[in-house]
Amino acid sequence: MNAKHDSQPRETGTRPSFDVAIVGAGPAGLAAAGAAASEGARVVVIDAADQPGGQYWRHRSESAGVPEDGKLHHGWNEYLDLRRTFDEHVASGAIHYLPRTSVWMLRKRADEDFLLELTPSWGPPSGIRSVTATRLVLATGGYDRQIPVPGWDLPGVMAAGGIQGFVKQNGTLPGKRFVVGGTGPFLLPVAANIVAAGGSVAAVCESSNLMGWLPRAHRAAGVPAKGVEGAGYVWEFLKHRIPYRTSTVITEILGDDHVTGVRTAKVRPTGEIVAGSEREITGIDGVGLGWGFTPQLELPLQLGVSTRVDVDGSLIAPVDDAQHSSVAGLLLAGELTGVGGAALAVIEGRIAGRVAGAESQGRSAVASARELREIGRQRRFAEAMHLAHPVPQGWQDRLTPETTVCRCEEVTAGEICASRETLASEDQRALKGTTRAGMGWCQGRVCGFAVSGLASNDVADHTSLANAAKRPIAQPLPLSQLANLEN
Ligand SMILES: Cc1cc2nc3c(=O)[nH]c(=O)nc-3n(C[C@H](O)[C@H](O)[C@H](O)COP(=O)(O)OP(=O)(O)OC[C@H]3O[C@@H](n4cnc5c(N)ncnc54)[C@H](O)[C@@H]3O)c2cc1C
Repeated sequence: MNAKHDSQPRETGTRPSFDVAIVGAGPAGLAAAGAAASEGARVVVIDAADQPGGQYWRHRSESAGVPEDGKLHHGWNEYLDLRRTFDEHVASGAIHYLPRTSVWMLRKRADEDFLLELTPSWGPPSGIRSVTATRLVLATGGYDRQIPVPGWDLPGVMAAGGIQGFVKQNGTLPGKRFVVGGTGPFLLPVAANIVAAGGSVAAVCESSNLMGWLPRAHRAAGVPAKGVEGAGYVWEFLKHRIPYRTSTVITEILGDDHVTGVRTAKVRPTGEIVAGSEREITGIDGVGLGWGFTPQLELPLQLGVSTRVDVDGSLIAPVDDAQHSSVAGLLLAGELTGVGGAALAVIEGRIAGRVAGAESQGRSAVASARELREIGRQRRFAEAMHLAHPVPQGWQDRLTPETTVCRCEEVTAGEICASRETLASEDQRALKGTTRAGMGWCQGRVCGFAVSGLASNDVADHTSLANAAKRPIAQPLPLSQLANLEN
């Protein structure tokens, strides 16, 4: 039901106040916004991007008037539906939309509303430097998880998601002929997007042997849309003759001042290279690497939310059936609660928005039985996917002492291992102090997972991952904004 709304947020001095604040306008945030507004709440939606869509529905520039036909997207009609509702609520004043705006800090004192500190992500400031809200929904998504490989710092090497984002946003490619490597079904749409944009793919190197799907095939059958999507990729791969090599890793990226080739090898599930399986692929100018995603947890961590390590090795924040986190009044949706894809993000966002909207009006709301069943199906599929496509064992052994791990501060694997052995730096925080790994511009977003793994000489543990994700300043901002911070 659409309720009537004031056209403006309540003004408290220079700090507008809302019933519900939503950070992120991706699949989860868009769904949350429509649902919260439909409960009669005054909603603010803050997103660092120029236009709604998030990572999954990233598209051509609306402000530049570049038409988007949706051909590079799955579920484009669902996006159009969510967007229509969103736009209607923006037009009615129920939703106050702040694009090109980052939330860099969150605060909440007992019995007070959430306080969100804002900064322009680019372009001129919106004039609003902070907002408050009774309920907060965080839907900040995630980013590509990376592990280093010798040569990965050469120009022409990108995160697999970076290539996809580039194509979706610009309609053009950052190269001509690519190798895509890593693990997970996400490598398939990246390769498909490359050929759709006129490039070619010399190989997709999937480190897993796919046998992990066999005992869990019934979970895949529970989400038929994923099967249909997968069949589409099989057809694309056959049509464009894209080799799909399983149990294969990129052991080295070759080139002097730009990528020109890769060395690959077959690996056993235990991580050893199969003798004699090494080969070289040359004549390429682009490499895309993807090892799953890392939920973007700095904002919930600023509020002290509880976390755990999920089956894919990611740090996530658990929620209850109504998407409440462990912090009162804070709801989470999408990748933050566990990497599970856009369809799951939409359902979670819808529930979080409805619950936050209702609670802000003094009512309560719950997820429907149907929504909970669908969440269960999507979660079981995601778990099967993570177990069938683990980060491959043995990646640490394939680094050389010279391999750069932290690219911002140019810290090598040799320096990190030496610090672990000689200075007992056995978690990410200690290594940050002793080597500067994770201390640069990206604040460990790119290297945090790998540094945590190297710190323990095994899989990354909870404390190390949580330390890596703790960032009191979530986004880059001008120093003047810190200097002028109130309270
Ligand atoms: C690069 C990339 C490509 C992907 N491609 C595919 C694909 O092809 N197929 C597939 O199935 N899945 C893909 N995924 C996964 C899929 O995007 C997610 O499952 C889905 O988008 C999750 O939706 P979400 O709403 O949780 O987050 P997102 O879609 O990531 O949206 C999060 C939004 O939050 C905003 N944000 C984050 N932090 C802040 C902040 N501090 N202040 C303000 N705004 C903020 C961002 O600008 C973004 O718009 C991709 C993921 C990435 C990272």
